[in-house]
Amino acid sequence: MKIPFYARYRTDQDQDVLLSCLEGSLATDGPFSQEVLSRLSHIFPESFPVLTSSCSQALEMALTLCGLKPGEEVLLPSYNFPSAANAVLRSGGIPVLCDIDPHTQNISPLDAARRITSKTRVLIPVHYAGISCDMKALFELARESGLKIVEDAAQAIGSSYKGYPLGTLGEFGCVSFHHTKNIGCGEGGLLLCRSENAYRDARCYRVHGTNRDAFIRGECDRYTWVLPGSSTAVSELCAALLSAQLLYIEQITRIRLKRLHDYEAALNPLEKAGYVRLMAIPDYAWPNGHIFYLRFASEALRQHVQELLAANGIDARTHYVPLHLSPMGRKLGYKPEDCPESTACFQTLLRLPIHTELAGRQVSQIAEIITKGCISS
Ligand SMILES: *Cc1c(COP(=O)(O)O)cnc(C)c1O
Repeated sequence: MKIPFYARYRTDQDQDVLLSCLEGSLATDGPFSQEVLSRLSHIFPESFPVLTSSCSQALEMALTLCGLKPGEEVLLPSYNFPSAANAVLRSGGIPVLCDIDPHTQNISPLDAARRITSKTRVLIPVHYAGISCDMKALFELARESGLKIVEDAAQAIGSSYKGYPLGTLGEFGCVSFHHTKNIGCGEGGLLLCRSENAYRDARCYRVHGTNRDAFIRGECDRYTWVLPGSSTAVSELCAALLSAQLLYIEQITRIRLKRLHDYEAALNPLEKAGYVRLMAIPDYAWPNGHIFYLRFASEALRQHVQELLAANGIDARTHYVPLHLSPMGRKLGYKPEDCPESTACFQTLLRLPIHTELAGRQVSQIAEIITKGCISS
């Protein structure tokens, strides 16, 4: 038995949309991009969507559009991918690494509050595993200290906070369509803007900082450079694939959630026995089954179980090296003891395969091996 960690959802339309895209023009913002935008406007109502070539690009755009200035500080979790921290550095800002909550692995509002200074401007919560951060606590912090919120909703398409889609709560939201995410087109991303003005600027930013939009609408007779920007639009080929994927978002989410609940039921006894902690899903969070993870009682147990799974052909994986432990984090002045919960998470968290090719009986098999591993440890 071989069970891969990831598997792409293949739709019957994948080949048709790509061929039809090739028969037409590959010009940016073509018919497939338009179709994707119209689907996204149903998923993210009351938000202005801008397609980008990655979530990382969307994060960079968001921080530029927030007007972050050199020397200003941005709060983000240490247990994280480097994208948000890179975006802060590119604006000349200072990433301030915060510790996480041990139940959700999301940024700890208490720890973040402690790190606010007179220079803090932005907060970038990551909805880890597609589970919403404690937005009420974070909004309170943001209001008290005048911070803008940019949601790193890279993993969170299909998830919500009290019914509000993740990515639409902050000033900006950033979503990823990387091939490893629930909905993917190889490489792609989405910037969600809450304000129409920011949206207009974002539309200029992505086409080299020009007013190409206004030109296409016939509002000027040539287009020109109007603000600092880059080339961050998604390719029409990727948009074509995305248009097919988005047709199935409900199915994909439903299958993943089913597997998440299968894992919860099968592994609940191990939590009761104290070997592991299952991922916490707070009442305010509606998940999307992007990741299923366990936190083991010790690093040794996590490693033992991971090896046993590997010996049985099952690819289970740890996750981030916390940013404060990374070479770049050390260069920024962080010390290993700075974010202890992030370090513990790095040592004890294990992600199990979860995707649309995973069968319910495979979940049972995986759970049996984990149970054996725990009991024999
Ligand atoms: C995947 C991911 C990213 C990066 O997304 P790209 O589209 O590859 O740029 C950023 N942040 C988090 C939390 C992610 O999971």
